[in-house]
Amino acid sequence: MVDDVCHYDIQQNDKYGRYLVANKDLDGGDVIFTDSPFAVGPKPDTPPLCLSCYCPVENTLCASCGWPMCSEECSKSATHAAECEVFSTARVRFQKVEDWTVSAPQLDCITPLRVLLAKEKDSERWKRELEAMETHTESRKLRPTWGADQVNIADFLIDHCKLGNRFDKDLVQRVCGILEVNSVEIPSRGGFSIRALYPRLAIAAHSCVPNIVHTILQNDYQVQVRAAVSIKASEILYLCYTHSLSPTLLRRDFLADSKFFMCDCRRCADPTELGTHLSTLKCNKCDNGVIMSTNPLDNDAPWACSEKNCEFRTSGAAMRKMLAVVQAEIEQLDALEPGPAAIEQREAVINKYKSVFHPRHSLLLSLKHTLAQLYGRVEGYGIDELPDLMLERKAEFCRLVLSTLDVIMPGETRMRGMMLYELHAPLMFLARSEFSAGLITQEKLKERLQEPIKCLAEAARILTREDPQSPEGITGLIAQQSMEQLTASLECL
Ligand SMILES: [Zn+2]
Ligand SMILES: [Zn+2]
Ligand SMILES: [Zn+2]
Ligand SMILES: [Zn+2]
Repeated sequence: MVDDVCHYDIQQNDKYGRYLVANKDLDGGDVIFTDSPFAVGPKPDTPPLCLSCYCPVENTLCASCGWPMCSEECSKSATHAAECEVFSTARVRFQKVEDWTVSAPQLDCITPLRVLLAKEKDSERWKRELEAMETHTESRKLRPTWGADQVNIADFLIDHCKLGNRFDKDLVQRVCGILEVNSVEIPSRGGFSIRALYPRLAIAAHSCVPNIVHTILQNDYQVQVRAAVSIKASEILYLCYTHSLSPTLLRRDFLADSKFFMCDCRRCADPTELGTHLSTLKCNKCDNGVIMSTNPLDNDAPWACSEKNCEFRTSGAAMRKMLAVVQAEIEQLDALEPGPAAIEQREAVINKYKSVFHPRHSLLLSLKHTLAQLYGRVEGYGIDELPDLMLERKAEFCRLVLSTLDVIMPGETRMRGMMLYELHAPLMFLARSEFSAGLITQEKLKERLQEPIKCLAEAARILTREDPQSPEGITGLIAQQSMEQLTASLECL
């Protein structure tokens, strides 16, 4: 279902190489273009998964080639046909593993092989859309992953899978570079995150304050790219290649490691992260000071207290170490089942670090973002059993995330849609609870319910653009129905 919307031009400069600009004035939510993946497949470090639907598998293999597959139907899918023939002909089977839940480097060859096979099948598209892609070969050669890719992918495909008469090892390494620099991580139907190479999306320049969003349409993994905010004709289209809620230090490390550039966008350059304080710490040497980098664009610049008379200083390296420790502690919480402990342990970590970090610091904000979704949804913390104080806490966290998004990820984004949906519930229950306690009149109740209706309407507008089978798409439909019900119930009051 590729529509032919094409509201961009390609331009070129020294900083970005090729990049996209709007070719007309756009409003938030407008579709700019839709792109088909050149190839889709497992990302590195993935445990064995079905090579067709990407669900976890254990001991089930394709009857023809002996590589992981969940079912006969998946073995026969078009996605797998060409590689199935390569493996069957060369008699190269997947080497069985002891633990099917740990990453299997054998699978690292799959996506590069799919790019090679797609190149062979559609050499015109390769020439048109991939030939000019950045690979950073010289930088990649200096890294240990180069050697691993040479053995696990280039030698494996050319020597073991006997593809030497169709491709060569330099081309395989080039494809590995193209994937590393240009592919994006996307969700799959089967559950695992995978990677996909979208040639047109890959041209978009990066900024830590993006102005476009992309949605994966799960039936065929097409990507739909929209304006997140109003964009004027000839403005640059910016995608964010990294996790938007991360602090500057971690975003810039990620971009340098995986995308081979040092970001110097206006958010990275500002020690306050445009006033969001996602990187800011509290000073424990004085009362009112906060600690920020003296130059966020220099990894070695010291961090210092904002108070004139306070002499507290620390190094970028010490800051990085500290963030890694706390981040590891927070990641452990992700293993918890959604239940009372998932809420209580997160609150405990927030409490533990509240004197260390600014309340809006990225690490605390990510905990609050998760809590905003857990309150009202887990056993013992159902929305209709939450005391007013906890309803207020849920609302506070939603508003905190929303106000941060307004600055760093403005406009019509999935995360904003999901947070607005979460926010409507405590607002609605708080208004009703005050009404039943006789604290507000019926007129006032009607007035108070206008805000949750607005939240639901906006959530529905944003989220119904998503794939209807994705969690966001499902929430979008529920938001639409809830908005209609709430509006109808108001008319009966
Ligand atoms: Zn499958
Ligand atoms: Zn097969
Ligand atoms: Zn940046
Ligand atoms: Zn201080």
